[in-house]
Amino acid sequence: MRQLRVDYETRLVEEVVLRAVAGHPDEGEFRRVRDQLYELGEADERDRAFCTFHGQWFERLGMCQPVEEALAERPLVLAQVRRCAVVRARNKKEEGAELFVSPDPATGRAIGLQLRPESLLVPDQLLGFLRHEVLHLADMLDPAFGYEPALKIPEEGMAHRMVQDRYRVLWDTTIDGRLTREGRAPDRVRQRRLLDFARAFPMLGAGAEEHFARFFDGTDLTHAQLVACARDPVQALGLPQLVDRRCPLCTFPSYSFEPDPESLSPVLVRRIQEHFPAWRPAQGICRQCADLYRGRQTAAVPATA
Ligand SMILES: [Zn+2]
Ligand SMILES: [Zn+2]
Repeated sequence: MRQLRVDYETRLVEEVVLRAVAGHPDEGEFRRVRDQLYELGEADERDRAFCTFHGQWFERLGMCQPVEEALAERPLVLAQVRRCAVVRARNKKEEGAELFVSPDPATGRAIGLQLRPESLLVPDQLLGFLRHEVLHLADMLDPAFGYEPALKIPEEGMAHRMVQDRYRVLWDTTIDGRLTREGRAPDRVRQRRLLDFARAFPMLGAGAEEHFARFFDGTDLTHAQLVACARDPVQALGLPQLVDRRCPLCTFPSYSFEPDPESLSPVLVRRIQEHFPAWRPAQGICRQCADLYRGRQTAAVPATA
């Protein structure tokens, strides 16, 4: 039996309802009833009345639908989670789902869902986003996937970020592959994921699509397999071993080095040397590291039109 309860933050519900009702055929009715609530004498009573009223309209306008549907599609989540709290995200980057596991078994597991009001106003698009997020959660709850919160990667700094990024790309690839087979993925998701994949694994070059298909079309991939591939793609994907040419920054063997490191811009070289003071361009740098620093460089300099 379902035990999962979904609670929405009061101010999120109010904001969404006020926006959704504007221009709606029932707006007149909404305004009339809402105006009467202001006449309630006691502040607490009035707040409660507004809260209930907005909650009813939130449901009536179908705003609960995407969250309900995305959760209902994953019986594993319904069976193992007690509560889902939907709160307001301040920006797009903050949006997403998290799983909280209480040490107290009576409290059990809970989902924290952060969404912007504007996302709730576009239910179809939101459903696509939520399906992806909820499948992350379902994987985390599935013993067959074998999720572990820590990636167990000892390296710090750049290499750590790179492994994390590859892991995220691999997991997202398997998720969208499964959603595609279920007929629940947005259009063109395969193309978009392939681009992410090729960017995260530049050593695959023209072979990227073939390896990508192993993850996108693959079944029963586990957390451990994804971590192994994120840490050491050459080994995990059975690529021919390189004559040990490793990037001095990330220390990974790389297939693709920056072709002419000595002509890198002095600004870029200084940025790299802020983190790696002993590094000299002549030692070389892999494309991925160079791109990371290039990205940082452009991020720090305001774009000119
Ligand atoms: Zn994802
Ligand atoms: Zn590197």
